[in-house]
Amino acid sequence: MLRISDLSVAYDHAYALRSCSMEVPQGTIVTLLGANGAGKTTMLHAIAGLVKPRSGSISFEGREISRKDPSSIVSIGISLVPEHRQLFPEMTVDENLILGAYTRGMTSAVKKELDGVFELFPELTVLRTARAAMLSGGQQQMLAIGRGLMARPRVLLLDEPSLGLAPLLVDRVLSALQEINARGVTILLVEQNAFRTLPLSQTTYVLEQGNIVLQGMSRDLINDPRIQNSYLGTL
Ligand code: ATP
Repeated sequence: MLRISDLSVAYDHAYALRSCSMEVPQGTIVTLLGANGAGKTTMLHAIAGLVKPRSGSISFEGREISRKDPSSIVSIGISLVPEHRQLFPEMTVDENLILGAYTRGMTSAVKKELDGVFELFPELTVLRTARAAMLSGGQQQMLAIGRGLMARPRVLLLDEPSLGLAPLLVDRVLSALQEINARGVTILLVEQNAFRTLPLSQTTYVLEQGNIVLQGMSRDLINDPRIQNSYLGTL
């Protein structure tokens, strides 16, 4: 569904990704693991059209998208839930969600999408008129994911959704991702820790200093000593 081939991205002269290739098959959850600064966010930003590659290609259902602008990429069905959530703190939960559907206008379909978000995250229902700044970290992460879903994506890109959350909330967020996947959305999940995310995903890629150094079936990699030594911290 999403194919990244020989992708290189640089900020001025410093390469953040070097000739990286990945496949995200339709209907799957793919994990991209890596330490701080490995290039994970850059990969998601390149797919979302926020940074332009120096070379290589990104194709979505066979169409090259690496030169498209970010709003066109949202329109074709790829939505990013950014690192640190990046909500509008002074806006309400409802307003933040409706902004996620900006490419679609306020139609009855958007109202249906809002209902879908509250079905997935019932804990947000009583907070609809609360400002996003008043929400806990876990509630803000649910809101950020909900906003990503408002564009009705076919692929959801998530940048460290468990960052800074207590273990119970990590479980809550990750089980919501499984539910989203079960509803037919393909997921590319960026994380630093393999312990909870590998069991959810079919395929895992490992990025180190801009290079994909390891890839394979998640169920095999979870027992790989290289993963166990570097990415099985406590979460
Ligand atoms: P983290 O887990 O800390 O978010 P990451 O794996 O997502 O890390 P990136 O944020 O993609 O890594 O960064 C990869 C490299 O590119 C790092 O060396 C980083 O300093 C550099 N970099 C990222 N964004 C920029 C930018 N806007 N300008 C210059 N260098 C950047």
